Amino acid sequence: MRRTGFLYDERFLLHDTGPEHPECSARLLAIYKGLEEAGLISKVRLIKASRADQAWIEIVHSIKLIMRFEEACLWGMNELDHPDNKMCRETFETAMLAVGGILHTVDLVMEGEIDNAFCAVRPPGHHAEVSKVMGFCYFNNVAIAARYLRRKWKLQRVGIVDFDVHHGNGTQNIFEDDPSVFYYSIHEHPSFSYPGTGRDFEKGTGEGYGFTLNSPVLPGWGDAEYKALLEKDLFPAFEEFKPEVILVSAGFDAHVDDDMSDIKLSTECFSWIMENIVGMADKYSGGRLISVLEGGYAVSRLSELARNHVEILLGSKA
Ligand SMILES: [Zn+2]
Repeated sequence: MRRTGFLYDERFLLHDTGPEHPECSARLLAIYKGLEEAGLISKVRLIKASRADQAWIEIVHSIKLIMRFEEACLWGMNELDHPDNKMCRETFETAMLAVGGILHTVDLVMEGEIDNAFCAVRPPGHHAEVSKVMGFCYFNNVAIAARYLRRKWKLQRVGIVDFDVHHGNGTQNIFEDDPSVFYYSIHEHPSFSYPGTGRDFEKGTGEGYGFTLNSPVLPGWGDAEYKALLEKDLFPAFEEFKPEVILVSAGFDAHVDDDMSDIKLSTECFSWIMENIVGMADKYSGGRLISVLEGGYAVSRLSELARNHVEILLGSKA
């Protein structure tokens, strides 16, 4: 069995998005319950959050955005820039804890204390751009982790796989001119889905051309099409790129029971995807993989999806 970390902290529940918002704390409770009921909490290394040093947020985000976000919380505002981005007084601190927890998890993986990890954090991150919060996202957790791996750990090649049903416009935007971070995303086609980016001709810019790869998927598609696209696009791209670490933007909203999209993935297909990503990490990255929660709003399904996700990281899934 592998040594798998699980980042979870009850303080992630304090980010209150109000009634009827899909990005709610019940999601995390369902994830924790799924692991607990399967007896996995005793098998993982439980990691608590710690507040990020703001200097690490600044390697991705503008100081102006960080200050505006913090001030909005202090003033008690209940949203930032758009009704999607509901917030409360604790939202800024929760986002700081999420980033700090993820960076600590990165250190544990790089120091060889653990092999891989699942970070069940809120708020999510992949829509957040350098100076813009959007789509329930404030700080781009995975983008900060990728740049941290470059700056602190001096890695040359970081691979990101984003299987959230929405395109990670923020992550793509942050790394589109950077050949050291390969961003791959599979998502519902932008003509039918938020945020309207992630077409197959978006391949990066300048020196980063060829290091962004998008696989848009039509509404109604499911397991067979996802598997075929991952085999055609992702697997050969990472075979060539050979990432030293793989970061995963793990969104579970492509599930057939999740009404955020018209993509119809089965629970088993999420397992197939994760088994293959873990397989790539074993092959290219010495097993080093850090998965970070993005979307996934079918609360009734999150327990089983998270349980399978962690069992695959542990290598204990039959
Ligand atoms: Zn999503």
